[in-house]
Amino acid sequence: MTTVSKHRWATFVALGLLTAIGVAILQVTGAVPVLAGALYTGLSALTAVTVLVVTHRRRPPGRLGWYLLGAGQVAYTIGDALYAIAYASHAGPASPTAADAFYLVQYPLLVGALVAFVRRRTPGRHTPTLIDAGIIAVSAGLVSWVYLIGPLTADEGLSPAARLVTVAYPVGDLLVLVLGLRILLGGGARTPSYLLLLASLLTTLGADVAATLSRANVWSCVLWLVTYALLGGAVLHPSMNRIDAPAPAHTTRTTAARLAVLAGASLLAPAVLLLRYLQGDVSDVPVIAITCALLFLLVLGRMAGMVAAQYHIAVTDGLTDLSTRRAFEEQLRAEAGRRRHRGFGVVLLDIDHFKAINDEHGHAAGDRVLRDVARRLRAAARAGDMVARYGGEEFAVLVPGAGEAEVAALAERVRHIVAGGTVDVGDGVHRRVTVSVGTAVLPDDTTEPGELVQLADRALYAAKRDGRDRVVAARRAPARPVHLPRSRRSEFEAA
Ligand code: GH3
Ligand code: MG
Ligand code: MG
Repeated sequence: MTTVSKHRWATFVALGLLTAIGVAILQVTGAVPVLAGALYTGLSALTAVTVLVVTHRRRPPGRLGWYLLGAGQVAYTIGDALYAIAYASHAGPASPTAADAFYLVQYPLLVGALVAFVRRRTPGRHTPTLIDAGIIAVSAGLVSWVYLIGPLTADEGLSPAARLVTVAYPVGDLLVLVLGLRILLGGGARTPSYLLLLASLLTTLGADVAATLSRANVWSCVLWLVTYALLGGAVLHPSMNRIDAPAPAHTTRTTAARLAVLAGASLLAPAVLLLRYLQGDVSDVPVIAITCALLFLLVLGRMAGMVAAQYHIAVTDGLTDLSTRRAFEEQLRAEAGRRRHRGFGVVLLDIDHFKAINDEHGHAAGDRVLRDVARRLRAAARAGDMVARYGGEEFAVLVPGAGEAEVAALAERVRHIVAGGTVDVGDGVHRRVTVSVGTAVLPDDTTEPGELVQLADRALYAAKRDGRDRVVAARRAPARPVHLPRSRRSEFEAA
C-alpha cells in the first residue's frame, strides 16, 4: 500500500472539512446559493460513491453494514440535491418537502447498518450493555421530548403531515443514539475506522438537533458536511475491514467512567423536573415522572444483573464450572433444615495419585484431568444432585431425598464412569484415572447433619487405605484411631 492510499482517509476528511468551511462562508454571506448547493450535494454524492466503491473493492467480512451505510448516503444525496434545488430557487422552507422523504428513508438504512455491526461485534443479546444504552437513551429521550418534540407537537401552525415529519427526525435520532451507544458500550476493537464512524454519528445527531431547533441554519449544514467527511474517512481508513470484528467474550466491565455516565444520565430526569418546577411549568410532569420510574427500574434491573453475576462467580468453581465448597456447605445446611425427616446423602471423592499426574505430565494436564472428572461426575449425578469441587482434587455430591442404597448406587456409578475411560493429558497421551469414594447418609449413619461430611471423609480415607479405586460407606468404615503426638499425650495422661 502506498503512502497516498494509506492517508487517503485523512485527505478525504480534510477535503470534507474545507468544503464545510466553504459552504458556511457562502451561506453566511448569502453569495452564490447555487454554488453552496452544488458543493454540499457534491460532497454528499462523493461520500456515497466512496462508501459503496471501497466496500465493493475491499469486500470486508461484514460488508452488509457498510453497504447499508452507502445506501443511506445515497438517500441523503438525493435529499440534498432536492433541497439544494429548492434552496437555489428560493422555494422557501415549505414542509414537508420531497427532500424530507429521502432524509427519513436514511434512518432505517442507518439503523440496519448499525444493527449489522452490533450483531457481528458483540454476538448475543448482552443485556447489561442494552440496559446501559437504554438508560442513556431514555434520559436523552426525555430531554428531546421536553425541549424538542413537545414544542414541535404543540406548534398549532403545522399541518399534520409537517408535524409527523418534524417529530420523525428526533425519534429516528433517538433510535440511532441507542444503537450508537450499544456499539460504544458493547466492547470490541476500537479501531480508527470505528472511532471515525462514531464521530460521524455524533455529528449527525448534533446536526439534527441544531436543525430541529432552527430549520436550515448554518450550523446544521456545517455539521452534516462534517458527518459526510468523517463517514468517508471511516470507510477509507485501512482498519475499515475490522470495524465489525467480534469482541472476545466478557470484555465489558463496569468502569468508573461508565458508572459516572450512567449516574449523570439517571439524574437528568429529576434535574429536568426541578428545572420545570423552578420555571413554574408543570405540563410535562407526568412524562418526567414516568421516565423517572422507567430509569429507576432500568437501574434496578442492571443492579440485579450485577449481583447475580457476582453471585454466580462466588458459587462457581472457575476451573471445572462445578459449585464451590462454600455453595455446597450452604446447600447442605439448607437441606438439613428442610429434609430432616426424608434423609439425604453425601458422596466425597478424591482422585487417586493425582500428584503423580501433575509431576509426570505437568500442571496443565492435571487441570485437564480435573475438568474431565468434573464432567463425568455431572454425567453420573442425578438432575437434582449438587456436584461441587470440594478442594484441590476432591469432589462432593449432595444427594437429596436418597437412602443408603441410592447413595451407594450413585457412588459406584461415579467410580465406574471415571475408571471406565481414559483422559487425554495432552500430546496424545491417554491416562486411566481412578477415584476413591466415601459416602454417608442421613439418618442411617448419623442424625447430625453436621457430621455427614466428616463421616464421608473418614470413609473416603478408608477407601484409600484399602487400595483406592473403591467405594466405602461410612457404616462400613472403621472409626479412625486417634494418634496424638507424644508431646501432647501427657496432657491427657495427667488428666
Ligand atoms: P492420593 O491417592 O492419596 O489422593 O494421592 P494424591 O497424589 O492424589 O494426593 P495429594 O494430596 O498428595 O496430591 C494432591 C495434589 O493435587 C497436590 C496439588 O498440587 C494438586 N492440586 C491441587 N489443586 C490443583 C489444581 O487446581 N490443579 C492441579 N493441576 N493440581 C492441583
Ligand atoms: Mg488424591
Ligand atoms: Mg486430596
